[in-house]
Amino acid sequence: MTYTLPALTWPIEALEPHIDGTTMAIHHDKHHGAYVANLNKALEGSPLADKPLEALLSDLGSVPEGIRAAVRNNGGGHYNHSLFWRILSPVAQAKPTGSLASAIDRDLGGFDNAKAELIKAGLGRFGSGWAWLSLGKEGKLVVSSTPNQDSPLAEGLKPLLGIDVWEHAYYLKYQNRRADYLEAIFKVLDWKAVEALHEEARA
Ligand code: MN
Repeated sequence: MTYTLPALTWPIEALEPHIDGTTMAIHHDKHHGAYVANLNKALEGSPLADKPLEALLSDLGSVPEGIRAAVRNNGGGHYNHSLFWRILSPVAQAKPTGSLASAIDRDLGGFDNAKAELIKAGLGRFGSGWAWLSLGKEGKLVVSSTPNQDSPLAEGLKPLLGIDVWEHAYYLKYQNRRADYLEAIFKVLDWKAVEALHEEARA
């Protein structure tokens, strides 16, 4: 299998003013594009190329040492960014609804608290990485953070919402103001997409 860069479902400048079009173009085409190219290069000629990416990232120990770091970084980069584009939308909803809203109330003390925890996870990540809302093994929602392109899959979690806190995600518009960027992300989150991921993860 050859991995391909997924097309965005909205125009590149659609998230303005929250996320500017130049940042989006570089982020999607160049950064995500490079993860895809490097993942394909790492897996070229390997039998692992036919395994689902989720399976590789969930069990990095099964990946031969010679390509493990490349799969971890570039496979993680491809997986994380594919999820990120899916949960962003110019037609945002302020809050989740339905069973996801109930689960957030139950496991995270309500939406406002979940949002505060996600922002704290993003601000607390030193250097590059991600803030996550995931479904844990016992069906409970968990907020966490990973460094670099590490995936919550490696910890047995099913990621539902990821917020990229690499400087490449925000520096052109927000410079060092990661907190402002994190607030802006909440204005372009597609909670319907997160709800769909929650349903898939529970199935
Ligand atoms: Mn990124």
